Amino acid sequence: AIQVRGLSKRYGERTVMEQLDIDFATGQFTVVLGPSGCGKSTLLRVIAGLEEADQGTVSIGDVDMTRTPPQSRGCAMVFQNYALYPHMSVRDNIGYALKLAGLDRVERERRIGEAAELLGLRDLLDRKPTQLSGGQRQRVAIGRAIARRQRVLLFDEPLSNLDAKLRHDMRMELRRLHNEIGATTIFVTHDQMEAMTLADRVVLLNKGQVEQAGTPMALYHQPRTTFVAGFIGTPP
Ligand code: ATP
Ligand code: MG
Repeated sequence: AIQVRGLSKRYGERTVMEQLDIDFATGQFTVVLGPSGCGKSTLLRVIAGLEEADQGTVSIGDVDMTRTPPQSRGCAMVFQNYALYPHMSVRDNIGYALKLAGLDRVERERRIGEAAELLGLRDLLDRKPTQLSGGQRQRVAIGRAIARRQRVLLFDEPLSNLDAKLRHDMRMELRRLHNEIGATTIFVTHDQMEAMTLADRVVLLNKGQVEQAGTPMALYHQPRTTFVAGFIGTPP
């Protein structure tokens, strides 16, 4: 499990979160849902170790990771803007982190092939990111994360730049991948439809606090606050 305890984060005068506690169960697909600016990306970055909290701890699999550098936390993250290396081919975009991790050529090729197979990238491996559509870039970003075979997958609004059809297809694909890989997945979005269709469990954040956490149906049918009812009940 991933446990976030007493997490506080400020930027200057602005408090993003104060004493936040959240649990993410091992192997579950958890969607962190909430309005723009509520602290979703900050939470993911703190879990990944890309940003330091002012207070609080993050533990993964019962190990305190608060002082552990990002590359040793067992997390792979997919960023909202994809963050692909523009000068590298798709193959090298996927392979680069594997090389840094010290995997030999044969193993790297095996993993690249596997990710390409899973995400339908076989014919695109020699292209550069500029030669890909938005949806294809998204697949590369996901493939790159998956190829690292980390036990935790962090997704920061990975589908928000895609058109409706592609978004729908990618949701199905992500859910299938999750079921296949069995990683602990944390998926951030402000889209309640996305949360309802993807999640085993939804954590609804508001102003850096957990407003309610539970199954999609529990939040839908038993909202604890008017904020929850309004957020979940409003069409996207
Ligand atoms: P969105 O849905 O728009 O991506 P979010 O829930 O991911 O929003 P965060 O990016 O976590 O929100 O930001 C939470 C708050 O912290 C916002 O008010 C934001 O302006 C502020 N913030 C985030 N990063 C920084 C930073 N590096 N410096 C100053 N303020 C920041
Ligand atoms: Mg964000």
